[in-house]
Amino acid sequence: MTLNKTLDVLVIGAGQSALATAYFLRRAQLDYVVLDEQPQPGGAWLHAWDSLRLFSPTTWSSIAGWQMPTAADDYPHRDAVIDYLRRYEQRYQFPILRPVHVDSVIREGDCLRVRAGTDSWLTRAVVSATGTWSRPYIPQYPGAEDFTGQQLHSSRYRSPKPFAGKKVMIVGGGNSAAQILAEVSQYSDTLWITPQPPSFLPDHFDGRVLFHRATAAWKAEQAGRKREASAGGLGDIVMVEPVVEARERGVLAAQRPFQRFNRYGIAWADGRQASVEAVIWCTGFRPALDHLAELDIIEADGKVQVEGNRSVKQPNLWLVGYGNWTGTASATLIGVTRSARAAVSEIQTLLSQTTDCQ
Ligand code: FAD
Repeated sequence: MTLNKTLDVLVIGAGQSALATAYFLRRAQLDYVVLDEQPQPGGAWLHAWDSLRLFSPTTWSSIAGWQMPTAADDYPHRDAVIDYLRRYEQRYQFPILRPVHVDSVIREGDCLRVRAGTDSWLTRAVVSATGTWSRPYIPQYPGAEDFTGQQLHSSRYRSPKPFAGKKVMIVGGGNSAAQILAEVSQYSDTLWITPQPPSFLPDHFDGRVLFHRATAAWKAEQAGRKREASAGGLGDIVMVEPVVEARERGVLAAQRPFQRFNRYGIAWADGRQASVEAVIWCTGFRPALDHLAELDIIEADGKVQVEGNRSVKQPNLWLVGYGNWTGTASATLIGVTRSARAAVSEIQTLLSQTTDCQ
């Protein structure tokens, strides 16, 4: 199907970032469509592990316009987030087409053509909000090909049961690693590897502090001031209940990275060895930007050069929700609203200054 008319905006992805963007596009009464490859609402939350809870309360985990209904306990479960995003879509009746996988975005005059299989849409602006979940990152280690144990990235982790009774190594120093370690260590012997000593927030702090810090960093950046080193970051570990309980059990001792794998485990440079039967990589993600490859704007680091969250090399393209490089705390429910609002305001200006595609 090829739509005959030219859209004002096409949004790729329908996770929290796209929905926050659609909220402002709807308010601006622009002509837009949202395309998402998944058959149902929820974005990456659909794939998070069974026991995952938000690290901030509902009041701090809502996107523009409608607050997440308060959960039975303060830190909503993954399912409550999925339900919120599903109801958010219904509430605003966004024009979302799914499942539609976008293959590519190409230039066509002053516009962009978005292609999905045999379908295509011509649009004056594009917002890419495809997240990172589909691009898990696993660091390379010598000898990994000899290692006979099981390996899994946190994006595919669902429950501790398959690891029961095994010697499990958890690699990574953020919230995912701490929460998965807390769970798996109840059923298995665990070894925790972090690049530097893990940074734990005080017990009474939660995600709000991370957001306050991120906002302070953003304000400092806006004012051209350097960010204080002590400011901490979004990678600091929030002491949610299961992580506090794991600390009581003495399993939060972390070791620094090993040098190589061998068939049955790992070895450090100083000769120490450890047997390992399974590895859970909590080593983060990269932005899912393959659909932008033909625009030839993806840099060597896998990102796109942006001013705020607008592509420098493709000024009618915006990127929302990929993390701090596209807006401080933009990869969080509470943080993405600021980025979405800024992108739509710039889009409105662009559309007011240009006419249809030449
Ligand atoms: P996604 O949710 O990944 O949505 C992107 C959508 O685009 C998906 O539906 C995807 O299928 C679709 N898509 C991708 N490529 C294409 C394509 N080519 N064509 C069509 N569709 C496409 N955030 C918080 O605010 N609070 C928390 O407590 C919190 N805890 C977290 C815990 C973990 C373990 C993880 C991994 C993340 C956590 N986050 C939290 C962050 C949050 O889950 C993500 O940042 C968020 O899901 C990103 O939203 P998004 O809309 O940018 O991307």
